[in-house]
Amino acid sequence: MSSYSITAARVTHPRAVRGHGSPAAFVAAVTGRRILDVRRRGKALLLLLDSGDSLLVRLGMSGRLQVHAPDDPLIPHTHVVLALDAGTELRFIDPRTFGGMAVVTGHDPAFMRELGHYGPEPLDDAFTPAVLAEILAGLRTNIQAVLMDQSKIAGIGKIYADEACFLAGISPLRSAGSLSPDEVTRLHAAIRQVLAHSIEVRGTSSKDAAYRDSGGEVGGFQHHLHVYQRAGLPCRVCGTPIEYRPIQGRRMHFCPHCQK
Ligand SMILES: [Zn+2]
Repeated sequence: MSSYSITAARVTHPRAVRGHGSPAAFVAAVTGRRILDVRRRGKALLLLLDSGDSLLVRLGMSGRLQVHAPDDPLIPHTHVVLALDAGTELRFIDPRTFGGMAVVTGHDPAFMRELGHYGPEPLDDAFTPAVLAEILAGLRTNIQAVLMDQSKIAGIGKIYADEACFLAGISPLRSAGSLSPDEVTRLHAAIRQVLAHSIEVRGTSSKDAAYRDSGGEVGGFQHHLHVYQRAGLPCRVCGTPIEYRPIQGRRMHFCPHCQK
């Protein structure tokens, strides 16, 4: 993708480009631009443009980018179509319309106002156990809520928070600040393991299968889940039924035996 240019753009759902004054303003900002590189930040993708700006793609709950041939029929919820000089189209599809596209200034996500609320990326080398310990220190909020707070750590949703706590053997009832150094190290390893594994098997599709990877396939991660959406089923490690109950207003899956 790194050498492709956007030869034309059309917006079929104006809400998807709501950050711009009008769909025409968005089309003008991307047409003729070359895509130099693609980066990911939390639940967003950045297409670095040769104008010095970036096309920020917020995936939201269910958004995805797919490459199509121009004569492929538009699948439902296709909101933006970018024609590439390669003869293909890059299409933004978002059934729940929480996501969107916007041209933002610069190439460096660290300086983007639009992304300023994201904490560190858990798969970055800079995300060490010491960094995680610093994030958690002194917090009385439960560990699960902190893991899912995008301003603390980027890109961890409910599934990955449930699964990481299970792998680390830490109860979601615990407050974030109560973890020992050993537990922080285990949680750090578990977060990385769960995210890396998810990427390897192309993401997770929940029961409504709204999530697809960029090739349109349903993800395979759900077949490897230990606790998420397994309420009442036996723990894969100890056989105890998995619990699913609200903790500080948030429902969480966990094994009451394996997670302390
Ligand atoms: Zn168990």
